[in-house]
Amino acid sequence: MRIIYLSIYLMILSGTACADPNENLSPRDAVPEKLQRLLKAYPETLASASRNRLRWKDGTEMIFDDSIGNKDFETMLNSPDLEDQMSMTYPAGHSFKPPPQKNADPGRVRYEPFFMKMYGNSAATVSGKLASVRWLPQTVNSLLKITTVNRVNEKLQAISDELDALPALKKYLAPSAGTFHWRTVRGENRLSAHSFGIAIDINVKYGNYWQWDTDLSYKNRIPLEIVEIFEKHGFIWGGKWYHYDTVHFEYRPELLIK
Ligand SMILES: [Zn+2]
Repeated sequence: MRIIYLSIYLMILSGTACADPNENLSPRDAVPEKLQRLLKAYPETLASASRNRLRWKDGTEMIFDDSIGNKDFETMLNSPDLEDQMSMTYPAGHSFKPPPQKNADPGRVRYEPFFMKMYGNSAATVSGKLASVRWLPQTVNSLLKITTVNRVNEKLQAISDELDALPALKKYLAPSAGTFHWRTVRGENRLSAHSFGIAIDINVKYGNYWQWDTDLSYKNRIPLEIVEIFEKHGFIWGGKWYHYDTVHFEYRPELLIK
């Protein structure tokens, strides 16, 4: 009799499961939208993603969410995971309404192992992957070093060519205050985006930087026309950060991709 009851019980259980096999599994195993965007942004280097893992084309795997919740702002900057890197929405184009909200710094959070894996984990490794871009060839014609990984050099060259056709903007763009430089962020242990050969600073004469100001009151003199051309090619702008750095642009397509 006990066996019959058990059989009926198992039949009910299996019947329930057959009704909707994904009822409980599907949401749990779904790839988070922000991880999907990260994967889509780097098709040349990233291969696939599952619920909490990012897989590189060489087979390397990285955890997306370290499950450490409620990180304060400083902890997020200093000990982020990939999820933190994707946590703030970058206001592309004219959706940016200055001044930025307190600590709204989309792109300042960088999971360092991701960038080291992508672009190189030492000055020498990153240097070996750099190429020259001719900055504003018709009007300035200087050479800048930028990474070839993800074809960032081609993207910066396209930006340069577009900007070159707008001579009124030249004073903001040249001389460039630098591209590749293996260094930490001023006053911190974190590596700057310049370390990876993915960043460019334009003319500091028209720049504003939060560390130069005592009151951290937002200021900007860079025309948004410049910003839109950079964004079109996958570069974000430090002028959209609460901790503003208005001459700074860096290649971060994961924050711009739809
Ligand atoms: Zn910079």
